[in-house]
Amino acid sequence: MALLVAYFGEGGSVMRLARMCSLLAALLPTAGCYVDIDVPPGREFGCEMLFSPDAESLAITQEGAARWGNATGCSFRVGEGGIPVTMTDNLQNNAGRSACGYTRMFYQVKPTRKIMGINFIQIDRECPTQQATMLHELAHAMAPAADHTKDGLFAESATVDFIDEVSLSAVCEHLECKAFQPESPSLTGG
Ligand SMILES: [Zn+2]
Repeated sequence: MALLVAYFGEGGSVMRLARMCSLLAALLPTAGCYVDIDVPPGREFGCEMLFSPDAESLAITQEGAARWGNATGCSFRVGEGGIPVTMTDNLQNNAGRSACGYTRMFYQVKPTRKIMGINFIQIDRECPTQQATMLHELAHAMAPAADHTKDGLFAESATVDFIDEVSLSAVCEHLECKAFQPESPSLTGG
């Protein structure tokens, strides 16, 4: 559902450094070359996060943040100066296939590929499962190192629309959860 791509920052100098670094790393694999990415304030991830949705995605972001807050005991707030969340048309992944949601992250350059922060979240305007997609993308943003699960909300194509136990476990492996409260399907009719 989401696609994670490398992002080397907005500054041209960072991009040039990144290219040099990649070349160096290719020639000298042991060089351990990497570029630290300047992550803007409010774009960090962890048990306290701030999301800044546009008007169209405000309601699903608020609901998603509140539900993940209940499930994890973490503080996910909605306000200004945080990770942008926007609705877009014809959201596509790198392979040109349509996608419901997309979470872009700041990475260090190879070979470390360390995730530094969250760039933004996008939700497709025509997506029929926007709330579930929002919950799925928030999981990527909260725990960017977490792998997709086989089934459930955090499966590559989510199979449920609530925070199931397996997906919550996958998130809490990488996030310092202060609670562990999976949702029940009956809450959402899913
Ligand atoms: Zn995903």
